[in-house]
Amino acid sequence: MQHREGSAQPMVYLETYGCQMNIADSELISAILRRAGYGAAARPEEADVILLNTCAIREHAEERVLGRLSDLARLKHQRPALRLGLLGCMAQHNRAQLVQKAPYLDLVAGPDSYRRLPELLSQTRFDPIVDVRLDRNETYAGLGSDHGPGPRAYVTVMRGCDRFCAFCVVPYVRGRERSVAPDAVVGECAELAARGVKEVVLLGQTVNAYRYGEVGFGRLLRMVAALDGIERIRFTSPHPCDMTDSVIEAMATEPKVQPYLHLPVQSGSDRMLAAMERGYSVGQYLELVERLRRAIPQLALSTDIIVGFHGEQEDDFAATMGLMRQVGFDAAFTFKYSVREHSRAYKLGDTVSEEDKARRLSAVIELQESLSMARNRAEIGQVRKVLVEGPARRGDGMLSGKTPQFKTVVFPAQARIGETVAVRIVSATSHSLSGVAA
Ligand code: SF4
Repeated sequence: MQHREGSAQPMVYLETYGCQMNIADSELISAILRRAGYGAAARPEEADVILLNTCAIREHAEERVLGRLSDLARLKHQRPALRLGLLGCMAQHNRAQLVQKAPYLDLVAGPDSYRRLPELLSQTRFDPIVDVRLDRNETYAGLGSDHGPGPRAYVTVMRGCDRFCAFCVVPYVRGRERSVAPDAVVGECAELAARGVKEVVLLGQTVNAYRYGEVGFGRLLRMVAALDGIERIRFTSPHPCDMTDSVIEAMATEPKVQPYLHLPVQSGSDRMLAAMERGYSVGQYLELVERLRRAIPQLALSTDIIVGFHGEQEDDFAATMGLMRQVGFDAAFTFKYSVREHSRAYKLGDTVSEEDKARRLSAVIELQESLSMARNRAEIGQVRKVLVEGPARRGDGMLSGKTPQFKTVVFPAQARIGETVAVRIVSATSHSLSGVAA
């Protein structure tokens, strides 16, 4: 691999798009390339290799990446030796079109190809190198990751998805479910604890579908909780159908497992849930929420909502608004449906106009703002244990951290990053809380 004049090693610039799984994958890629002799460039202009780790969930995400690629192509024009690569879900999803739309790409590599990156980057070819083989066994277990700074680290415990929701391409771009051996998960968490990490977030596309031999997700939570040094455990994203008694019991009885759950519902209409092939009804989801709240009274809940899926009528949409009110989510990630090629719903097409989608999206956002506000106001007067993450963005000597319910709190205190401070909540907005040391 050629590198720039004056630098002792080839430098790589890595840019990440999409979900937390992708951020964790970039930490893995960074570790793989560092061990292969690459340095980390802070800017694309300083790099010999530029890699974009991408997302295919929505069309908009793909358009952003294509725009960014054409910007970066200018650098390549100035420095033809620069290598430009596209990694991740979009590489897997769109490999053929990508090579046409962005002919200046040197490398297109899917989510199961990261182990081979040093070898792929060492090849020089006129045509782009395309490596998008999916591998049923690839978990990257034991490879280690370059976790970022701060008291929280993300640990991938399973990859892929077997659920095939109608709107989603994840099972096609990330392949089938496979879990990391529990010893490897515990080993990585122990290493993180030794480095001062206090909170681990266990990650997987359907994280609570984790299974390795006899070990299911509830047991894995308890194994990680047994580690000294790890004070808090979270996980994302669970699927409602995999929320077993054993997982709920681990959340309810293991104090390190925090009372917060991101539980995607997607729609409040049974008709839509069936069309989306989500595998549960509104009644089953509500019954699960009730079981969770009974077992974990302090639980905070967030969700994902899609508006404008194929066939969604006004009464389906009204049912979604009704469900949101009934559950009273603490937060929601809301999206307009975007047809994805290769998904099961692709052939059904788009029946809801852009205008109706936009109107429905504004309505769910507005509703969620008021629900979040009400949930956050209910925190006023409570004393919460806050894990300090660093100075607050607004400056003036304030600190910022998260409560067990994953709510951001800004407060004045003398405390170090990674310390836990008892904070009395004194005011709230729909997005964050303010407090004073209790
Ligand atoms: S559970 Fe459904 S939405 Fe989630 S990754 Fe799997 S197919 Fe996609």
